[in-house]
Amino acid sequence: MFKHQYIKIIAIILLVFTGSLAVFSIISWWYFAIVLLLWLHIIALGVFNIETGFFIETLCSQPYQDQRKIAISFDDGPTEFTPKALALLDTYQAKATFFCIGKQIERYPYTFLEIFKKGHTIGNHTFTHSNKTGFFTVSEMRDEIEATNGLVEKMTGKKMRLYRPPYGVTNPNIAEALKHTKHKVIGWNIRSLDTVIKKEDRILKRITSRLQPGSIILLHDISDRTLNVLEKLLIILTKENYRLVTVDDLLNIEPYEN
Ligand SMILES: [Zn+2]
Repeated sequence: MFKHQYIKIIAIILLVFTGSLAVFSIISWWYFAIVLLLWLHIIALGVFNIETGFFIETLCSQPYQDQRKIAISFDDGPTEFTPKALALLDTYQAKATFFCIGKQIERYPYTFLEIFKKGHTIGNHTFTHSNKTGFFTVSEMRDEIEATNGLVEKMTGKKMRLYRPPYGVTNPNIAEALKHTKHKVIGWNIRSLDTVIKKEDRILKRITSRLQPGSIILLHDISDRTLNVLEKLLIILTKENYRLVTVDDLLNIEPYEN
């Protein structure tokens, strides 16, 4: 059972308890309102913070890592910026993980195949990356995931098993869909905010101040800004003797179905 189920049961018991006492004027309705607000607050934290693993088990790092491995992950590609990211990774003999959007794979099929051929891991990042992802039904969510899996299988012969939720959003419908598709959810423990922060140095500092063996770093191969940060980051990581590996290598899991 996921944490969400436990919290739901506790919240319902507390709501019934405080509600009953309030009905008989034994306590104020405020107690009922406080429990309700607290529950909604916890749900919101679970929806938007992937590291909580609130609705579904989520792998965000490998804390017991003694080999100085680190995994860089890229979301939202492939794009016109991906080839430069691949070239930089080659220069530093680094492997990475690319969580690809189905629609983007259709737009950049050769770049996508380049990622795969170079030995980086590919994962599912839905087909459309809709900003309504959090409001999809279970079957809409399954369609999103299965469409991208089908496309990738046609192109590479591999069935992806790793999934990265757009915007890091999970909820009961997404958890249910993933139970059917049997994907493992991969999060991160270092969010670069490279799509939000404008200054490259600030993005780099945000990452380097959080570095530790076993980390999963989230980047987006969608801008020159990220490529510039990547180059500086690779220099620093190499100097500090980190080994740059795919998330499946870091977490010791299978990225594809056999
Ligand atoms: Zn995304």
